[in-house]
Amino acid sequence: MAETACILAGEHQQVILPNITAGCSMADMAPIQDVEDGWEDLQNVLGDHGGIVPVTYMNSVAAIKALCGRNGGAVCTSSNAAAVLKWAFQDADRVLFLPDQHLGRNTALKLGIGLDEMVVWNPFKAMGGNTPEQLRAAKMVLWQGHCSVHTRFTPKQIDSARERYPDVTVLVHPECTRETVEAADMDGSTEFIRKAINEAPAGSVWAVGTEISLVNRLAKNNPDKTVFCLDPVSCPCSTMYRITRPTCCGRWKAWSPERW
Ligand code: SF4
Repeated sequence: MAETACILAGEHQQVILPNITAGCSMADMAPIQDVEDGWEDLQNVLGDHGGIVPVTYMNSVAAIKALCGRNGGAVCTSSNAAAVLKWAFQDADRVLFLPDQHLGRNTALKLGIGLDEMVVWNPFKAMGGNTPEQLRAAKMVLWQGHCSVHTRFTPKQIDSARERYPDVTVLVHPECTRETVEAADMDGSTEFIRKAINEAPAGSVWAVGTEISLVNRLAKNNPDKTVFCLDPVSCPCSTMYRITRPTCCGRWKAWSPERW
């Protein structure tokens, strides 16, 4: 995010990253050299079989954003991922979606693309672990990256939340796995989650599957509602939290055992 802020900053602005090792473990799953190799392989195998456009999620390194720009692609957020995919499919038969396979899969499913039209690109295998035929038949090529925080949320946790709070609404981020998104009542971007809970009626109960600091902030700002994290033992994002002062005890208060 600091890197992106730096790209967007004007001449008169400075971007300060308090800890240079802070980052995103999901972004680290798509190193530029691997992506460039994969992109070249895809060009070779697809050849005359229709175009492919690269689309990367905001949580990726600047070099990948640049690769997308150079090749007619785009950068998306979780809020506009569906709109960007629709745009990409206007001119291409396929999309290479980086680096989060779950956001790519969940968004594509909402657009009516079937699981049988998606393949996962494993950068540790030749051709991403796919045959040329599979790649030619695919509409979505999903880079094998994931968010270590959001993939902790599970359908079992959703069942537990519903057992404890029969009136609960389960709201998760689309970086969660497909199984979790399908088991939830709602899913949406950070902005969607924020808006849904802030505008919810007093007394409503929300189990939220996203990064703990956002859940805690929502719980604090909505004292007339019950808001708790879907994962009762969730840890904060270890890479992102490198810029945060170590004040864990206070941080856990909003969702600790009294509420969960
Ligand atoms: S929670 Fe952490 S690993 Fe997941 S997308 Fe955000 S910064 Fe990356």
